[in-house]
Amino acid sequence: MIDQMYRKAVLTVSGQKFVEDLIRSRGFRLAQRFVAGEDAASALQAVRELEGDGILGNLDLLGEFIDSPEQCSAFADRVLSLLDAANAAGIRPYVSIKLSSVGQGQTVDGEDLGLTNARRIVGKARQYGGFVCLDMEDHPRVDLTLAQFRTLVNEFGNETVGTVLQSYLYRTEADLEALGDLRPNLRIVKGAYLEPASVAMPDKADVDASYRKLVYAQMKAGNYVNVATHDEAIIEDVKHFVLAHGIGKDAFEFQMLYGIRRDLQKELAEQGYRVRAYIPYGRDWYAYFSRRIAERPANVLFVLRGMLRG
Ligand SMILES: Cc1cc2nc3c(=O)[nH]c(=O)nc-3n(C[C@H](O)[C@H](O)[C@H](O)COP(=O)(O)OP(=O)(O)OC[C@H]3O[C@@H](n4cnc5c(N)ncnc54)[C@H](O)[C@@H]3O)c2cc1C
Repeated sequence: MIDQMYRKAVLTVSGQKFVEDLIRSRGFRLAQRFVAGEDAASALQAVRELEGDGILGNLDLLGEFIDSPEQCSAFADRVLSLLDAANAAGIRPYVSIKLSSVGQGQTVDGEDLGLTNARRIVGKARQYGGFVCLDMEDHPRVDLTLAQFRTLVNEFGNETVGTVLQSYLYRTEADLEALGDLRPNLRIVKGAYLEPASVAMPDKADVDASYRKLVYAQMKAGNYVNVATHDEAIIEDVKHFVLAHGIGKDAFEFQMLYGIRRDLQKELAEQGYRVRAYIPYGRDWYAYFSRRIAERPANVLFVLRGMLRG
């Protein structure tokens, strides 16, 4: 409950225009703990650096609150260029996209623009032997995202496209079951948005219990799982679970965010687990940065210290 109140307070304050202007005026310097850079070259450079520690990358071009169809398609073009650039650099592209950024919910030529643009992106990723994960956004988008995920898996296969389920939503257990026939590649997260208690569990203990349940169910079903958390207790439990159930290290991976628990990422990679860092980049870093700050009180101090330094 206190977690929720803290998150709400930070997201409310950071949503104020003057706070955004103030933080943006300090430039990218404040965001660089969590964001790899403002362009694709910096993101690919981050992939290379992580490779040195045996950690894989998952590239995310930041671009929330893009709204016109032209902006959404231009954003999709930038993701396509990223795929080209990664491939040219000899990196197997693995990217995450938010369907809202590429036009989900807007109808153009009789079809949802998000799906049209996602098809272009997933198609190109497949051409390069890459992978696209559809991030999960706030709860009103879940139904459409899962329906579009189903369409894309049917067209491109589950080795090319995956999506995300959030353990804080009451509905998620049923969603996992309903996706079963696709043998989906799923990233399991706790959930990052400010959601009402009518749809999301307010207590952290419940969210954590639901998280374990979802990961174990996906593993038992023999489907690939991306265990996306920095929660050490959960990570330890997952390690025990896979040992006890004879699940191979190639059946799942741990995923964490760029700049968070780099020590733990390295340690897991050294222990032979597959580890992937989610690497956000782009000029539009503010909303992503705010969500990371909202996750942990110590991060507010980090921002304040950075601002005092000028
Ligand atoms: C790879 C990846 C992809 C994600 N994709 C999505 C998505 O598509 N949709 C979505 O809603 N959410 C997504 N999330 C965010 C997720 O929902 C959580 O908000 C976030 O991961 C924090 O939860 P946690 O599992 O790490 O556990 P928590 O219980 O929140 O944290 C456990 C511990 O991790 C550390 N930690 C957590 N967050 C931070 C931070 N910001 N700074 C410093 N330390 C921290 C702290 O030590 C904390 O005690 C993603 C997360 C990851 C790792």
